[in-house]
Amino acid sequence: MKKISILGSTGSIGLSTIDLIERDRQNYDVVALTAHKNVDRLAAQAKSLNAEMAVIADETLYEDLKQALSGTKIKAMAGRTALNEAAESENDIVMAAIVGAAGLEATLSAVRKGTDIALANKECLVCAGELMIDLARQSGSRLLPVDSEHNAIFQVLDPKQADKIDKITLTASGGPFRGRSLPQMQNISPAEAIAHPNWKMGAKISVDSATMMNKGLELIEAYHLFPIEINQLDIIIHPQSVIHSMVSYVDGTVLAQLGSPDMRIPISYVMNYPSRKLTPAKALNLKEIGLLDFFDVDEINFPATKIAREALQLGGTAPTILNAANEVAVYAFLEGKIKFLKIVQIIEQTLEIMGSEKITSLEALYAKDEETRIKASELI
Ligand code: NAD
Ligand code: MG
Repeated sequence: MKKISILGSTGSIGLSTIDLIERDRQNYDVVALTAHKNVDRLAAQAKSLNAEMAVIADETLYEDLKQALSGTKIKAMAGRTALNEAAESENDIVMAAIVGAAGLEATLSAVRKGTDIALANKECLVCAGELMIDLARQSGSRLLPVDSEHNAIFQVLDPKQADKIDKITLTASGGPFRGRSLPQMQNISPAEAIAHPNWKMGAKISVDSATMMNKGLELIEAYHLFPIEINQLDIIIHPQSVIHSMVSYVDGTVLAQLGSPDMRIPISYVMNYPSRKLTPAKALNLKEIGLLDFFDVDEINFPATKIAREALQLGGTAPTILNAANEVAVYAFLEGKIKFLKIVQIIEQTLEIMGSEKITSLEALYAKDEETRIKASELI
């Protein structure tokens, strides 16, 4: 029996994780499930999986959750400390699937405890990469990447041959607006931006994919997860999302991982690592797909990856600022407060205004994240 908790169980990754657990019920003991505001879904999940505890992050919803779980043995909890408590509970693996830096504190709690992390929440690594990697090293916590590109690299990168790696290539679908010029992206609506051609995901990451900032965040994520320098990280547009990323070795060998675009494949891989299990994902049929295409990233019309690379090169607090400004701008776009193209402009301006400082502590990072959100909101 594997003890598992899911931070962000009501989201897209959370649902895929639960789908896998439900198909393999006898091998999982669900400890904690957490959500932001969706009490009904959280309570239903906790009951169906017979979880020990359910945590709603929004404290004002505590009574509702308690009510929804009345007559069961499931402990209802609410708020930030409860979220940390869930992350620190006795687990073999914690699925970190909260969206944004909001998931950082709880994820770090699990890392500190030495628990293995199924890491979907890439913003954690963008915001606090060095600190998180250091903590994991100290505690023995393994960061098992769920993000499909990083999961692909994790599957084909042999750490014993780290010095024989020439480069890592992240594949990117290019999002729903690939091929468009800036004027053609003036009036994109949130609904259009959320409609990703290959993956069904939460709203924030879908917008990130549309601006290509998702690939920028993933560049930073890859830098922290793998033994590689910034200039060895490459991005290629591959609209079919069949090759999920590749590692090139010095002898000319390129190892890639392929599969249907279904997050249950990488999730299953980390949940069963180092073994594998049957998944319900559609088998990859290359004959049906026929052709695989590859293009350069269009940095003129999609400058996000370039900005993210520069933030990574600058180091210090720059990636923290990039991430926080992006979150604020994406939600402002989703709420109809700014136009699509403004998202990346706001990030650029915020980075410019705030510069970069050396990271002195986790508290300093949280403060920088907070300060950035205020600055970016002012700009909006
Ligand atoms: P989502 O919006 O569908 O779900 C987010 C989850 O986080 C929900 O359970 C929500 O209740 C919870 N949450 C949101 N704000 C919170 C807060 N302030 N405090 C506590 N909990 C909060 O998002 P998703 O698509 O499942 O993505 C989750 C993470 O996984 C993101 O970091 C994303 O980048 C990453 N990821 C997702 C996919 C995908 O296919 N969906 C692929 C790769 C990586
Ligand atoms: Mg990805």
